[in-house]
Formats: sequence, C-alpha cells, structure tokens
Amino acid sequence: MIYDLHTHSNASDGILTPEALVSRALVRGVTHLAITDHDTLSALPQAYSHAKASGLDLISGIEFSTQWRGRGVHLVGLNMDLSGPSLLAAVHSQAEARTTRALEIARRLEKLGIPDVWAGARQFAGSEALGRPHFAQYLMHKGYVPSMQAAFKKYLGAGKAGDVQQCWLEPEEIVAAITDAGGIAVLAHPLKYSLTHTKLRALVTDFSEWGGQAMEVISGQQNSMDTQLMARVAQQYQLYASCGSDFHVPDRPWQELGAFGKLPESCTPVWRSWQ
Ligand code: MN
Ligand code: MN
Ligand code: MN
Repeated sequence: MIYDLHTHSNASDGILTPEALVSRALVRGVTHLAITDHDTLSALPQAYSHAKASGLDLISGIEFSTQWRGRGVHLVGLNMDLSGPSLLAAVHSQAEARTTRALEIARRLEKLGIPDVWAGARQFAGSEALGRPHFAQYLMHKGYVPSMQAAFKKYLGAGKAGDVQQCWLEPEEIVAAITDAGGIAVLAHPLKYSLTHTKLRALVTDFSEWGGQAMEVISGQQNSMDTQLMARVAQQYQLYASCGSDFHVPDRPWQELGAFGKLPESCTPVWRSWQ
C-alpha cells in the first residue's frame, strides 16, 4: 500500500485535473490519495467520482496557508467531513483573503500607470485563485519586464509596490476548523521553513498546543537523516506521522506521486487515526 497524502491539482497550483491526478496516482501505484489543494476543496467532488470508479481510496484533503511568527506556514487537513460548517467558513475566509490581496496588488500596479492589471492577470489564472505569479505573467506579457524573475524583482517582491501582506486565518483557527470537521491537522513539510532546530521545536510545540495531531515526516524525496530527524520530533511530541509527495506537475521527479521513502517503524502513521 502506498499512501500519498499531499498532492495538488489544477484547482490550485498543480497542472493536472482532479481526474488526471487520480489516474496518474493509480499508474504510480498509489493506493490511498489525498488531494490537498491550497485553501480549496473544489477538486474533491470530481476526484471522488473518478476514484470510486477506479478503486483508489481518496481521502479528503486541503493545504491551508497561515502565518506563524511572521513566517508563512502550511497546515494540511486530512479526512475531514466536507460539510463541516467551520471548515467551509475557513475556506471561504481564505478565498476572501486572497481576493482582497489580489485587488490591492492590482490597485497598486495600476497606480504605477500599468493598465487593466486585474483583468489582465485574471486571464493567466484560469480556475486558480489570482496570485502574484499571474500578475508576473501579465507584466511579462505586456512587456513591462523580460522575465517572471524580473517581475518579482521590480514589482512584486519584498518592498516593491505589489508586496502586499496576506491576511490568512490564524493557525489556531485553521486547526480548529479541520478538527471540528472530524479531520486531522497536519503540520506540512516542517523542513521547508528554513527554521533552526530550536525554532522548529517551538513551532511543533505551538502546533501541538493548537490541537494539531500530525506532522509530515516525509515530504517528497528527502535524505534519510531528515526522515530520522522528523520521525524523532513526531515521536517526541506524540504526533501521528504523515507522508506525501507535494506533487504539482509531472516533470519534477523529486515530487512524483508515491515516490518517496517509507515512514520509519517508530512512527504511528496518520491513517491509523481513521482506520
Ligand atoms: Mn503549491
Ligand atoms: Mn506547502
Ligand atoms: Mn503543497
């Protein structure tokens, strides 16, 4: 059995449709899949009907954005009841936060004399929520910058006109929304925040206090030292261990569906909590 409990479809920043994601997971030998799009559950209805027909066990999922001590941190929710009112309210609030921010970015860029920023960037977003990469694409398309990188450097990066703070829900609120819906809150990819060991432990301590119950011991391909370290932290804080590829696109072998190491024996896999 292969559990991949962190993946993205084109409902957020992945490129596969929910159906194509399910199909690819099957081909890759995944038996249990969670689709965890950023701040949205919208891929799940489609994915469910496709998974049911093909014998894949689909677990409901989401990846919430939040902030901890001024840093972006991601919290995954797994195995939730999708009709949970506080879960739906949280999703709604995050969508509003994205829209408010995107409108402010558009307003600021237009103030610099760039026309039709909102509608222009919208064209690059498709079904995704509007974010900075779409503004970057528009700026490039209009010839204001030669590359995405330049767009961030000149207009969207730290300290530039389009650098607008996100107003995400507090992490406590997100953990509560996931838990109220009968789900498990998972601290996503703890090694990706560039924290010192001391800060990492402070984050995990806070996360446990918010009521978080699991952490990703494995996120995509990582070395065994990191896996052992994460397993020790999970054990120390009595957190369930999760694992996932963080799959977004098919051409990144280090984030391929189901392609990562096994959870160490010392871990209690998160799926035990719902079996
Ligand atoms: Mn992503
Ligand atoms: Mn993430
Ligand atoms: Mn992710």
